Amino acid sequence: LTGAYDPENIFSKILSGGIPSVKVWEDEDVLAFMDVFPQSEGHVLVISKTSRARNLLEVEPEVLAKLTAAVQRTAKAVTKALEPEGFSIMQFNGEAGGQTVYHLHFHIIPRWSDRQLKG
Ligand code: 5GP
Repeated sequence: LTGAYDPENIFSKILSGGIPSVKVWEDEDVLAFMDVFPQSEGHVLVISKTSRARNLLEVEPEVLAKLTAAVQRTAKAVTKALEPEGFSIMQFNGEAGGQTVYHLHFHIIPRWSDRQLKG
């Protein structure tokens, strides 16, 4: 969990436009975009556009408040669009915690009881 924010991380490049993304929602504070390796149909990621927090321990409380509001808003939009039976919010911290991209993000993963999640 230690270390410095790497400005070359994938989500930083998405924010700067260096890597394309399919955007779902954007305002001045947050970006929601499609996960390129979705675990289910409609898998969305939500990130801050302003914070250089790598994980939940580092994020400023006011940024976290905007992120969680965006997670709820995006979950509502995904639910309306895809009508899943449920959804999972996931958030990983540190390599041992399953994190692979070190720019804080929340996963919104729609779920259907008759569909297996991908690996
Ligand atoms: P983590 O394990 O860090 O919570 O998840 C990182 C997520 O970023 C993974 O679900 C992965 O599929 C996604 N991801 C990795 N590279 C890209 C990319 O270039 N574009 C998008 N949209 N998602 C990515």
